[in-house]
Amino acid sequence: MTDLIRVEGLSVFYGASAQAVEDVSFTVAPAAVVALLGANGAGKSSIMKAIAGLVRAEGAVTFDGERIDGLPARERVRRGIVYVPEGREIVGDLTVRENLVLGGYNATAQDRRTRLDMVLELFPEIANKANGGAWRLSGGEQQMLAIGRGLMAAPRLLLLDEPSLGLAPLLVRRVFDRLASIRGERELAILLVEQNLRMTMRLANEIHFLRGGRLIGHKRADELKDEAARQEAVDAYLGVAAAE
Ligand code: ATP
Repeated sequence: MTDLIRVEGLSVFYGASAQAVEDVSFTVAPAAVVALLGANGAGKSSIMKAIAGLVRAEGAVTFDGERIDGLPARERVRRGIVYVPEGREIVGDLTVRENLVLGGYNATAQDRRTRLDMVLELFPEIANKANGGAWRLSGGEQQMLAIGRGLMAAPRLLLLDEPSLGLAPLLVRRVFDRLASIRGERELAILLVEQNLRMTMRLANEIHFLRGGRLIGHKRADELKDEAARQEAVDAYLGVAAAE
């Protein structure tokens, strides 16, 4: 099976000297969920933004067999790479429905209606509040809206930046279970950024561990099934970073 996305030798710099990501390489297969796990400042968001075309980066990014590094962000969205940023960034002044419609700006009216129905069915919590202001939503509902807005762009690769941030575990589980179901139905691949291994395991097929801007380890989800193996991975890849 060919990769949906192939990242090779990716480096991200902020300014002349600050290097946030160093020589990172990985792939995501069609309909796979790959997670990047690491402590604050490990470089996870920078990798996502580089793939989305939002920060200057070096290295090769190949999507669906074509080089896309160098393309502007909007062209990457058009090809199906959609970034859902950390912190949700929904438009509070607009209604829930208007926020969703914004996410589907590149679609025909017919496609937009179909996708809107799909998103509202996926997240009934926000469907009930579709005509109300987005500022009224709870944190978890805002997260659903942010993901829903990403789905409105009909992504082939969804870049999800810490969807669990600030959410109760039960809610994270619900959101991840919904994502797992649409991933199967729609051939959607997901690159997921997280700090929590246990949550990540619910959705991801494979996990890359990141520290100081570099990939330092890789596990398939089936290698982390038992508690001892998970603890070992936390100690090896996350423990020291978390204590730094
Ligand atoms: P978090 O979990 O806290 O979001 P992260 O793993 O996503 O962290 P990044 O946000 O990618 O990490 O940051 C990686 C490094 O790059 C950090 O040292 C951070 O301070 C730095 N950095 C991030 N954004 C900028 C920026 N706009 N300008 C300068 N430095 C930045």
